[in-house]
Amino acid sequence: MADYDYFVIGAGSGGVRSARIAAGHGAKVAIAEENRVGGTCVIRGCVPKKLLVIGAQFAQDLDDAGRYGWTLGERRFDWPTLRDHVQAEVDRLNRAYQATLDAHGVETFHARATLVGEGRVAVGGREVTARHVLVATGARPLVPGDVPGAELGITSNEVFHLEALPQRIAIVGGGYIANEFAGIFHELGSQVVQLVRGPRLLRGWEPALADRLLQISRARGLDIRLSTRPTAIRKAGAGLEVELASGVLLAVDALLWAVGRVPNSKGLGLEALGVALGDRGAIRVDRGQHTNLSWLHAVGDVTDRLQLTPVAIREGHALADSLFGSAPWTVDHDAVPSAVFSNPPLASVGLSEPQAREQLGDIRIHTADFRPMKNVLAGRDERAFYKLVVDAATDRLVGAHLIGPEAPEILQALAVAVKAGLTKRQLDATLALHPTMAEELVLMR
Ligand code: NDP
Repeated sequence: MADYDYFVIGAGSGGVRSARIAAGHGAKVAIAEENRVGGTCVIRGCVPKKLLVIGAQFAQDLDDAGRYGWTLGERRFDWPTLRDHVQAEVDRLNRAYQATLDAHGVETFHARATLVGEGRVAVGGREVTARHVLVATGARPLVPGDVPGAELGITSNEVFHLEALPQRIAIVGGGYIANEFAGIFHELGSQVVQLVRGPRLLRGWEPALADRLLQISRARGLDIRLSTRPTAIRKAGAGLEVELASGVLLAVDALLWAVGRVPNSKGLGLEALGVALGDRGAIRVDRGQHTNLSWLHAVGDVTDRLQLTPVAIREGHALADSLFGSAPWTVDHDAVPSAVFSNPPLASVGLSEPQAREQLGDIRIHTADFRPMKNVLAGRDERAFYKLVVDAATDRLVGAHLIGPEAPEILQALAVAVKAGLTKRQLDATLALHPTMAEELVLMR
């Protein structure tokens, strides 16, 4: 008899959901977490980031307020106030996650767990046994090993706790985190220089959205440098000196690495057990989240496929249902929507135009390029851009790509249409809801 039916390593989004669902099926479940219950998304990712995005957005609203007739008093931003309120919310969610585990009878070990044999886990100075073990340890920010002084930079782990708002910050990367924090810091009043190693932002995204974000960001005053990267970082007084590949030296107060996240698979005992690992140490799993060992499973970022919270949650849920419930199922990784909460935000689902051309050949593209009403009255010359990708043979909508105010909110609804395989004709048959930005989606001819 094993001590537990299910031992989950990592109490982030995927692990907590899986533990709770398994317990609901009657399994005896334990979970181990070496940091804070809640994981990356809740503690140092999506949630605090989105709150900072909302906080930063006020800068623009305050700019626009005058055009809408408002006279405001003194305007001042206090970073510690926002930072501390965000952390208080993180604390509340951390308690809520713990309460959920407790309410479902999941035993929590606030300690690091490692695998020491088949179904055997060392945790908190003890060894316990389990019929099934789930590794849901997530990923951590990458800090390049080949840049002298790289350790002087911070990552998304530290950025939420800064003592003071940096007056000048270098942000390295052209992906999700870099663009989100470039927007946040710029709006909050920092001077931002973004260093992107490739020739454009957001490689792999619909190029039209990446280009529009670059154009708007630069017009707003962000210093975005493409095809460049830091080659050395040195201390300089209270700040840093960043040397670029071109030899140019930048003086900044802080540097943020946003160059990808690597799976947390080291030091868990996986190699000794012969667990199949992929690039960057990702745990290899099949469609059902099973590793090459029958008792060991993995979900979420540690598998390094789609590093997105809703994906990890659903994988954890499917696995728990499959192991302990009566109706096994697997997660479909097709047409997963995602958003970059940059300023303006962008959101995407399905195939980009280049991907669709390659995979389907004959496609139709429909676009809308417009100035949102709010921007018009504010006198701000920023245009939103929407692109729909349609399979010409079937008229099916296979991709949707939006940049502009509220793009993520709008895209979530449109993702249903892409997932359901709706046709462009069906979008056209839907009447517009006027005046909205989303109405553009049914007015593209
Ligand atoms: P991304 O993979 O999105 O972007 C990494 C960026 O760093 C790319 O521009 C990449 O360039 C560049 N890069 C990689 N290595 C180096 C290097 N050594 N030197 C300079 N540049 C480098 O990673 P993030 O860290 O932004 O985010 C990690 C993941 O977390 C995302 O992929 C996403 O899945 C998830 N996430 C999701 C969010 C959301 O849903 N809103 C928000 C934040 C994170 P290149 O393109 O040339 O490889």
